[in-house]
Amino acid sequence: MIIPLNGWAAGERKFHSHAGIEFFHTFDNTEILDANVQVEVTVRKEAMRKVEAVLHLQGTVTVPCDRCLEPLVLPVDAKPSFSIRFDAPETDLSEDGKEILQLSTTDADLDLSQAVYDYILLSLPLQKVHPEGECNADTIRFLGHQERIDEEAGAQQANSPFAALKGLF
Ligand SMILES: [Zn+2]
Repeated sequence: MIIPLNGWAAGERKFHSHAGIEFFHTFDNTEILDANVQVEVTVRKEAMRKVEAVLHLQGTVTVPCDRCLEPLVLPVDAKPSFSIRFDAPETDLSEDGKEILQLSTTDADLDLSQAVYDYILLSLPLQKVHPEGECNADTIRFLGHQERIDEEAGAQQANSPFAALKGLF
């Protein structure tokens, strides 16, 4: 996800990259089980110190389902855009309300890894569950069984992460 900023005149360029599971491993992320996201970066250089970027993130990531813990494939389709400043800006937002990514003045390359990572995670829904009826019934039964064991052991039900599942049985 390294974009060279030197060696080309002002104008617009497109760069392509790919975020697979190895990409998420470099961030020590263990929540993502698999990933296949195409990354297209459109960089517009208006002047040496004025750069704008638009990301297009498209593909899928696989996470454990919040309800049955089985793998759940989620679509990714996000098009965040932001400005890049090479000196300390006074705010995090530019005049037109875009997010600003700040780089040190010596950077000749633009490393978008962190931005790509953050925007992919941000694009995922808060509740990651299979569509109704597509969860693994065996796992849910097992989780329900576990909950009964916990209750018998006197575990505080309100603190159980599976307490919300109780209504299903
Ligand atoms: Zn599920």
